[in-house]
Amino acid sequence: MPTFRAPRGTRDLLPEERAAFRRLESIAADLARRYGYREIETPMFEDAALFERGVGTATDVVEKELFRIARRTEEGESWALRPEPTAGIVRAYVEHGMQTWPQPVRLTMTGPMFRHDRPQAGRFRQFWQFDIEAIGDPGPAIDAEIIELGRTFYRLAGLDDVQVLLNSIGDGACRPAYIEALIAYFEPHADRLPALERDRLHRNPLRLLDSKDPAMAELNAAAPRITDHLCAACAAHFAAVREHLDALGIGYRLEPGLVRGLDYYTRTAFEFFIPGREGGQQALGGGGRYDGLVELLGGRPTPGIGLGLGLDRVILALQADGAARTSDGSNAAPVAVVVGADPAATAVRLKVATDLRAAGIAARADLGRRKLGKQVESAAKDRAHFVVIIGDELADGNVQLKDLEAGSQQLVALDDLARKLVSGDRTHRHGGGDL
Ligand code: AMP
Repeated sequence: MPTFRAPRGTRDLLPEERAAFRRLESIAADLARRYGYREIETPMFEDAALFERGVGTATDVVEKELFRIARRTEEGESWALRPEPTAGIVRAYVEHGMQTWPQPVRLTMTGPMFRHDRPQAGRFRQFWQFDIEAIGDPGPAIDAEIIELGRTFYRLAGLDDVQVLLNSIGDGACRPAYIEALIAYFEPHADRLPALERDRLHRNPLRLLDSKDPAMAELNAAAPRITDHLCAACAAHFAAVREHLDALGIGYRLEPGLVRGLDYYTRTAFEFFIPGREGGQQALGGGGRYDGLVELLGGRPTPGIGLGLGLDRVILALQADGAARTSDGSNAAPVAVVVGADPAATAVRLKVATDLRAAGIAARADLGRRKLGKQVESAAKDRAHFVVIIGDELADGNVQLKDLEAGSQQLVALDDLARKLVSGDRTHRHGGGDL
């Protein structure tokens, strides 16, 4: 028999870790709702051309990391698993005519993304993102609002000292001249460039700036800065974003080398880091403005801005901090376990538990054929509040109700059982502060 394992770069989220993710998802959902974002769900795979066009063919994400699906349809269409959410959401915006809705259209989605990268700590082939997109607002105020939303998410998650790195990467008016200046700067050093960077010099020179290769650090430090090449409109936009952040009391660090990995960004670009952990794969999240993307994907020219926060890295950061706040606070312990004096009489236990569940109570029956003592023992191990003991009293319509926490026991009419359990559990919770 072969032994199977989760594919390289993926992992199972066992109940405890899944609960930690669930907690982040509910913080995300609550935050998105409060800021006026409505949920959207797009397919996990799309026409590969959507990512090639939307994200850019000269990006790592498409060039090296796209999970292409081998099968091709008769029309020659090919698919790829989504490496990021924005292209799919903008595709949906165009496809469903959302430009006729009140603008901006504020959308949110949380789910898995796929990148066929070399797996390492904090870098998975399937990872989860909390995503926010505001399509149809040119900013600058909303840029600051979205950055503030991201900061608030981390604070609620339990990471208090997350830092914002901020840059503007210009637009179609000023970036081409900057790119020329950048190529002119790097060209005389071409033979010093690592192979990958030399290869990128003409295809995607911006990416040289955030190269992880230590050989690039010195060259990059002296490279021309995009913020010195912004056109008047981009410079004014960038200044206004910073003013709005200042007004909100959000600190940030200007990072002229921050260019983001995807082609569609314009103007505002930002990433979130834990101070001291700004290295290559450590970004907790990031985002930026994409004023050309809607048009690039076939819609009317429409500005937009978005944010993608990696949930896996938040969990890792919480674990690294030794934070206990990884659980979602839900109590998986049953309120009641139905046990029986007659080990063989499983049907009646199952029926009583089914009726309790129908009444909204977290109840399970012990369906094993163990002795009563063993059944009670395992209910206690599961931290059940009550055990319902089915015995001879059932002939008169009664059962024994044992309160494991109070250590008391009473005879209760079966008809009255659900009410007793609800009020008993509620009194206990409010009194005992178990939550
Ligand atoms: P990006 O669009 O590449 O900036 O990704 C946004 C966020 O998603 C990053 O800041 C990370 O937190 C997270 N992320 C990106 N790629 C991965 C990956 N391979 N594994 C885990 N998290 C990732």
